[in-house]
Amino acid sequence: MNTMIEKVNKNRIDMQVIQRAGEIIRQGGLVAFPTETVYGLGANALDEEAAKKTYAAKGRPSDNPLIVHIAEYEALKEIAVDVPESAVALARRFWPGPLTMIFKKAEKVPYGTTGGLDTVAVRMPSDGIARELILASGGYVSAPSANTSGRPSPTKAEHVEEDLSGKIDMILDGGSVEIGLESTVLDMTVEPPVILRPGAITAGMLEKVVGMVGIDETILGPESEKAPKAPGMKYRHYAPNAKLTIVEGNIREEVLAIRQLVYDAVNNGKKTGIIATDETIHYYSKGIIKNVGSREDERTIAKNLFAVLREFDGEGVDEIYSESFAMRGIGNAIMNRLDKAAGHLRIPAVEIVRRQRYRRIVFVSQSDTCRGPMAAEILRQRHLRQEYVIDSRGIIVLFPEPINPKAEAVMRSNGMSLGEYKSIPFSETEVADDILVLTMDEAQKNKILAEYEEAVSIYTVNEFVGEDEEVLNPYGKPLNVYGLCYENISKLMDKLTEKLNSYVEGEG
Ligand code: AMP
Ligand code: MG
Repeated sequence: MNTMIEKVNKNRIDMQVIQRAGEIIRQGGLVAFPTETVYGLGANALDEEAAKKTYAAKGRPSDNPLIVHIAEYEALKEIAVDVPESAVALARRFWPGPLTMIFKKAEKVPYGTTGGLDTVAVRMPSDGIARELILASGGYVSAPSANTSGRPSPTKAEHVEEDLSGKIDMILDGGSVEIGLESTVLDMTVEPPVILRPGAITAGMLEKVVGMVGIDETILGPESEKAPKAPGMKYRHYAPNAKLTIVEGNIREEVLAIRQLVYDAVNNGKKTGIIATDETIHYYSKGIIKNVGSREDERTIAKNLFAVLREFDGEGVDEIYSESFAMRGIGNAIMNRLDKAAGHLRIPAVEIVRRQRYRRIVFVSQSDTCRGPMAAEILRQRHLRQEYVIDSRGIIVLFPEPINPKAEAVMRSNGMSLGEYKSIPFSETEVADDILVLTMDEAQKNKILAEYEEAVSIYTVNEFVGEDEEVLNPYGKPLNVYGLCYENISKLMDKLTEKLNSYVEGEG
C-alpha cells in the first residue's frame, strides 16, 4: 500500500485535504492524524472491519480496545449509555482535551472497536486538525496511538511514517504534538471514577470537579498478579529497543549513579544512552546524552520523552539510563510511561553510588614535582573499572614548579609526559570522605593528619596496597635511580589498580 503523506497547517487547515482524508475513513480506510496528546491512527469507529485493519496495521492485540474520538458533545449520547452526571461535569470542564472517559457502550458500537468489552472509551480531542477530520469522517473515529504496538508513541508525523508507512492509507502531518503523552483514561462505570491510565489531566484536577477519584493500583510498580482494568496497560509498551533502566534517588545520587553505570557500560563496549535534564545534563560526559526537558517545567519532559526514546533507537543504543521524576502532577504520567518503557526495571541510585568507595585519588609528595605526578600519570594509564579524578599535590609548594627533568626523561622513555605539569600545594579541598589521599612516606601522612584532623582516607601508597617498603626517593640521585623509582611506582600502581577494581567485583 502506498501511504500518502499530507502536510496540514494547524492555523490554516486545508479543508480539501481533510475531506479526502475523511472520505478514506468513511470508506473503511486508515488515516493517521495529529491530536494534542500523540498521533492517532484513525478509522471509522462504527465499522468492525476498519477496527480489524487498525489492529493489523499496529500489530496490536485485539483485546486492547480503541478510544472513540468525537468532535461534538451530542455524539457521546449516540455511542454511550448511562452517562453519569459527573461525566457531564467532567466533559464540560475538560473537553475538548486529553481526557478519555469509559462508559457502557451503545448497541451500535461494534465489539471490534471495544476489544470485546461492553464498555466504550470516548474522548474529544482539542487539536483543530483532529476535530475537522472527525467531522469529515462521520463523527466517530476510533484512534489508538499511531505506532507499531509496543514502540514509543508517535509525537511527530515522522514517527508514524517510521512505523506504519506502507500499512495505512494516509498520514496528516501537523507537526509536533503539544502534550506528548496519551490521554488520561478515567473509568466512569464505577463510583467513584477510577484512573486507568495517568495523563496530563491529573487526579487533582479531576477531583476538583467530581470529588474523589480512585487510581488503578496496577498503574505503577512491577507487574502484579492483578490484571489492569485498561487491557492495554498490561502490555510492554512505549519500549525502545535498548535496555532501559530508571535510576531512582535524589538528583545528586542519580547523577553519580548514572555516571558510574555509564562509565562501566562504555568500558564494556556498550553503546550507552543517558536521559538527562536541563538541570543535570552538564554533569555527564560519557555516553550519548540526551536532554529530555526541564525539571522546572515537567510538561517539556512529557513532550520530549517518546521522541528521545525513538532517537536512541535510531542511533542503535544498547543500554539507556534515565533519571527519575517526581510523582506529582504530570510527573505521574511521565513515570508511568517511563516505567513501562523500562519493563519496570528501576534501581535505587544509592546502591550504585555505594559501590564506589572513592571518587578522587590524590598522590601527595614533598614538592609535587616528581614521584606524586609520576604516580598520578601512571595510574591514569591503567584500566580502572570505575571513574576517578586522579591528581597530585605537594606538601611544600611555594610557587608552581615544572616537573623534575630526570623524572620527565624517565616518563618519556616510557611513552608518557608531564611536560606541561606545574606543582600544586595540598589544601583542604583534598580532604573528604570520598577522596583517597596517598602519600609517598609516613612523614607526609603524619604532617597532613596533624593539620587536618578529619583527614579520614589517608594512607602511604605502600600501606594502602599492602607493601612494607615506602616509595623509593630518587631526589639528587643519578638518572638510573629515577628509572628504578619509576619501576617501583609502576608496580605499586599495578597493585593499586587491582585493589580499586576489586571494589567493583565486590558489588552486590
Ligand atoms: P491507545 O489507543 O494506544 O491510546 O490506548 C487506549 C487505552 O485505553 C488502552 O490502554 C486501552 O486498554 C484503554 N481502553 C480503551 N477502551 C477501554 C475500555 N472500554 N475499558 C478499559 N480500558 C479501555
Ligand atoms: Mg498506544
